[in-house]
Amino acid sequence: MNQSIAQMLKSPGVHLSCEIFPPKEFGRIEEVKEVAGEIAALRPAYISVTYGAGGTTPHFTRELSKSVQTQGIPALSHLTCINDTRSRISGVLEDLREEGITNVLALRGDIPPGTGFPGEDHFHYASELTQAIRERGGFCIGGACYPEGHPQAPSRDADLDGLRRKVDAGAEFLTTQMFFDNAILYQFLYRALQKGIDVPVTAGIMPVVNAKQIKRITALSGASLPPRFAAIVDRFGGNPDCMREAGIAYATEQIIDLIANGVHNIHLYTMNKPQIARAIFGNLGSILGSLA
Ligand code: FAD
Repeated sequence: MNQSIAQMLKSPGVHLSCEIFPPKEFGRIEEVKEVAGEIAALRPAYISVTYGAGGTTPHFTRELSKSVQTQGIPALSHLTCINDTRSRISGVLEDLREEGITNVLALRGDIPPGTGFPGEDHFHYASELTQAIRERGGFCIGGACYPEGHPQAPSRDADLDGLRRKVDAGAEFLTTQMFFDNAILYQFLYRALQKGIDVPVTAGIMPVVNAKQIKRITALSGASLPPRFAAIVDRFGGNPDCMREAGIAYATEQIIDLIANGVHNIHLYTMNKPQIARAIFGNLGSILGSLA
């Protein structure tokens, strides 16, 4: 189970992975474990488990990651650092290692509004966390990247310089923020390579099946909506069944285009909805099999 995700992503074939998130209250963890079980039954390459914003619930992420691994699927545990001290982060990593969870997505996390950077007893950037994990040893480390630039970066070029630092610090693979226009990803991959960033990049796809999600998602992620997708939301957003079908079709088409253009590592933001993940895996059945 301790397979390195970076090594997996470099191996031949298409690797389709999924993301789940823990519940807000620990009392509901069993419900999300069931979701994890349904998604694990699709046999994704791995399942990533997010870390609660604010960083106060590492045990939620650990518990779900453990549950994923008991289903025979590698877990990728997210870990944010900005809202916690270095010594507490060290404790979180120790706990993960004790549970046999050795793939970690090292993230900065978001700085709470109205507060500035914390003191020197905190890591300030994901690259600092990455370096500390690398020095500790025993983990395969991933990082986040942003095809349209991180919203706080002064420019896309400066963001890529930060990304290069993260890779130099030890990030062995990257997962992208969601994007709705594949051309943006292709440009990003080209520009990243020009900066010498040559680790595997997993393309993050979010099936949008509900018009209400759109505003929140685009505000949070900074992802832009191409006119083709905006037209779909405009036309079908008022009808939940139609929007669901159109959203699944759009995400499926994005994935098929990625695979056709040689992008073989794809991460599905499932929003804890196994039925949507199932529909997309079903749509891709022969395509995934033909490239295995
Ligand atoms: P960093 O890589 O540290 O970058 C943050 C900003 O600092 C960027 O603008 C970058 O350009 C800049 N920068 C980097 N290095 C330097 C430097 N040395 N000097 C100056 N500027 C620098 N959030 C959660 O709370 N929980 C999660 O589970 C979670 N999962 C995520 C998964 C993915 C795939 C993605 C894309 C995001 C996720 N996030 C999550 C959100 C993430 O925490 C935020 O986007 C956060 O604002 C940035 O995190 P980062 O790791 O990319 O930071």
